Amino acid sequence: MRELSVYYCLKCGYYAYYQLPKNAVCPKCAEKMKLLELPYQKFMDLDCEERDELLSREILRNCPSVVTRITAAHKAANHRETIAILSAKINELEEENKKLNETVTWMHQTIWEMIQKERSST
Ligand SMILES: [Zn+2]
Repeated sequence: MRELSVYYCLKCGYYAYYQLPKNAVCPKCAEKMKLLELPYQKFMDLDCEERDELLSREILRNCPSVVTRITAAHKAANHRETIAILSAKINELEEENKKLNETVTWMHQTIWEMIQKERSST
């Protein structure tokens, strides 16, 4: 019997296990899925979060669409404005991401304090 392999969709992030590469087609996007360079068994050992992180990194690595878009605009017209707008958009997204990270840190802190209080009152 052939071993299962992990495949994932570059478009939507869906992943599944297949024996044959020809079966690895995303059911949502009907796109050919990409083989993950990690043995099935190792992937199964990861928890949900680790899988998400690994696949996110793989998708970014295989889909440099942001970079392509910026250089495409550059090649097409060499418009300083286009580059500036795209750079601003990236800054905006990075800023947003930073805020989200800060919120998570703050939530962790708050939850931690609640647990501490709970413990000291019992
Ligand atoms: Zn998909």
